[in-house]
Amino acid sequence: MRLTVIGCGHLGATHAACMAEIGHEVLGVDVDEGKVDLLNSGRAWFMEPGLDELLSRHTRNGRLRFTSSLEEAAAFGTVHFLGVGTPSLPDGDGYDLSQVYGAVAALAPHLTRPALVIGKSTVPPGTTGRLVRELRTGAPAGDAVEVAWNPEFLREGHAVGDTLRPDRIVVGVPGMAAEATVREVYRPLTEAGVPLVVTDAVTAELVKGAANAFLAAKVSFINAMADICAWTGADVAVLADAVGMDQRIGRAFLTAGLGYGGGCLPKDVRGLAQFAGTAGAKGAADLLLLVDEINSGRRQQVVELTAGLLGQLPGKRIALWGAAFKPGTDDVRDSPGLDVADRLARLGAEVVVYDPQATGNALVAFPHLRYGDSAVAAAHEADAVLVVTAWPEFAAMDPAAVTAVVRRPLLIDACQGTNPRPWRATGWTVAAPFPTPDYPERSPVTPDTAPGSHQG
Ligand code: NAD
Repeated sequence: MRLTVIGCGHLGATHAACMAEIGHEVLGVDVDEGKVDLLNSGRAWFMEPGLDELLSRHTRNGRLRFTSSLEEAAAFGTVHFLGVGTPSLPDGDGYDLSQVYGAVAALAPHLTRPALVIGKSTVPPGTTGRLVRELRTGAPAGDAVEVAWNPEFLREGHAVGDTLRPDRIVVGVPGMAAEATVREVYRPLTEAGVPLVVTDAVTAELVKGAANAFLAAKVSFINAMADICAWTGADVAVLADAVGMDQRIGRAFLTAGLGYGGGCLPKDVRGLAQFAGTAGAKGAADLLLLVDEINSGRRQQVVELTAGLLGQLPGKRIALWGAAFKPGTDDVRDSPGLDVADRLARLGAEVVVYDPQATGNALVAFPHLRYGDSAVAAAHEADAVLVVTAWPEFAAMDPAAVTAVVRRPLLIDACQGTNPRPWRATGWTVAAPFPTPDYPERSPVTPDTAPGSHQG
């Protein structure tokens, strides 16, 4: 099939490359010429394991190409995926859908023949209905333009595997013709056993919001339990392991830490809370607002813990290990760790950040912070080392190498990113927002159990 993918970011570029991988001819469209050039050269403009390999293979074999022209896209095919961004509004309340409406308004005049637009972005319920009206009003093909909604569940850091072998595909369709087209697109996946859930558009839109809200609630739940652990002295890591062994509950998303961040969960929780409020679903709105409040509170808690341990912040140097919102990505959108860094810097601390992958993006977002070339370099003359992203590099760090350069051996691990035992054995004080006893049976944090590792 000939498919286009409009919006070639974390979702769209991955989707385009994976659709080429399963045999389709794909044209990706993005308004940003710089991204288009890079993608055409076979490289993504962000870090995603395995993606460059697919981009390079399929741009070379001619199955995948990128452009900034929607006119070209409309001429190329009649099935158009829509994967543009849907960030929060500047006041944080609800979705900014300007990229979605902007893309649709720009595409419509070029739709001169029957077409199916398949939305993949995360949107509030009811968006599909409004887009159908916009498209049919603006397109020469009029009512022959249809819209389906096919939310995306991929996780950054696992995006290629999640797109090629998703847990399920969900699609809201307007009728049998659209359903047949979607089934044909995904046939290689469904034939390999991936379940396809076919429903109406509003249900499909809401499935995505509900899934992210549930994951966020799990994170806030374990963080709320962490506060009880802090009071009682209980070990939240063992608690999470033991609770998570219950198959009705599951271990994923039950790692206490700095809470969730990134380009999806925070805005999706707030977006659904806002929608629930306007829909009169007060219980849902209150629940989601509390999930968000618990999550935001983790950041200030770590700032206060650090300030308390250092006595005063002006004149103190803090090495901040981590900047990505979770390990395995270079994405710093709504990074809890960088938020903590920013708050500490505003309170007068000198913060030196190091991240194995995300330093470049962090520098653009927070130019007033200092950056180190390595974890040890960032720790030079530090009064505290603060771990905010659970990269394996930090878990594997030799404490002795860090002892040699710091002013004071104080490790504050906000995300269960290290094993406290070797640090304590080397004379370090290890602190966290919750107790961190050295039980030998405590599971080591891995990229898959790290806080936030399953977020989109
Ligand atoms: P992103 O910011 O990485 O990518 C959006 C892209 O759209 C950018 O490259 C931008 O230049 C482009 N764009 C904006 N307006 C355009 C237009 N008019 N025409 C063509 N291109 C345009 O965002 P993302 O992380 O890929 O997220 C996209 C959507 O997917 C969001 O709704 C998000 O919630 C959802 N989603 C993201 C993930 C994830 O892990 N990132 C997972 C599931 C769902």
